[in-house]
Amino acid sequence: MSLATTFSVGALTCHLLDGGSQRLDGGAMFGVVPKQLWQRRIVPDERNRIPLALRCLLIEHDVGPILVDTGVGNKESEKFCDIYAVDNVGHHGPTRLEDALAEVGVQPEAIRYVINTHLHFDHGGGNTVLKGPKGQMGPVELAFPNATYVVQEGELQFAMNTNERTAASYLPHNYAPVAEADRWQLVRGEDEIVPGVRVLPTPGHVPYHQSVLAESEDATLCYLGDLIPTTAHVPLPWIMGYDLEPLVTLENKRQLLAHAHDARWLLAFEHDPEHGVGRVGKDEKSYKFEPLDSPTGDV
Ligand SMILES: [Zn+2]
Repeated sequence: MSLATTFSVGALTCHLLDGGSQRLDGGAMFGVVPKQLWQRRIVPDERNRIPLALRCLLIEHDVGPILVDTGVGNKESEKFCDIYAVDNVGHHGPTRLEDALAEVGVQPEAIRYVINTHLHFDHGGGNTVLKGPKGQMGPVELAFPNATYVVQEGELQFAMNTNERTAASYLPHNYAPVAEADRWQLVRGEDEIVPGVRVLPTPGHVPYHQSVLAESEDATLCYLGDLIPTTAHVPLPWIMGYDLEPLVTLENKRQLLAHAHDARWLLAFEHDPEHGVGRVGKDEKSYKFEPLDSPTGDV
């Protein structure tokens, strides 16, 4: 099965890459939404977990390939991978993300930029890689040795100063080695990383979460990150229990979806188990996900 979905955004070629999957508690994923409702959208397993993709975005750009988010990586213990049902081992590279990159002809050394929406383990876990035989403590190295890594300055600060509520999601081996190698490009607020690729603050899940926009000609793709992790989270009140500031998420969703709807943006969903990319439509009650007829065709 193919590990990449390729489509055009104006003159830019983009790929959604299969970085594997994980399972998280369904109740935590849907916050105050009753199970009676959410289990019709995504069916939980016997441990009440729902399947989630780890879908990364690769933008082919004149400056070199740009990777957005990096999945879970290969540094976590067996116990950790069992709790979250992490399924991301690669056949050729360390993880499925490297396999997917190989499928579109990109070596890790070629990646010019890595942009993290935020630094939770399932978004920045593949920033670094454990070298050496499995089960042995090898050195942790940058997974993309020639890349500049981009994140909001506030997010890196936030990740370096965890508390009892946030610590389980922020694992320093995913971002401290990037700091040690002096490879962070820290941005503040909305910023253009290279022509046609912008980061847009979309806080709520965490205080300095950002989404990523790829814009070319009249087309725009928005990689939502955890602002709207799956297509089931498109309706405004369907907000994760994990979000630290759910009412901030709500207002950012309201603003972004209004814009995405009116401007016919393409939206990329990082964690949706089924749909990688689509648009939003609207009826009198709420926004609705609209899949693309042909993900490989003219979008
Ligand atoms: Zn997150």
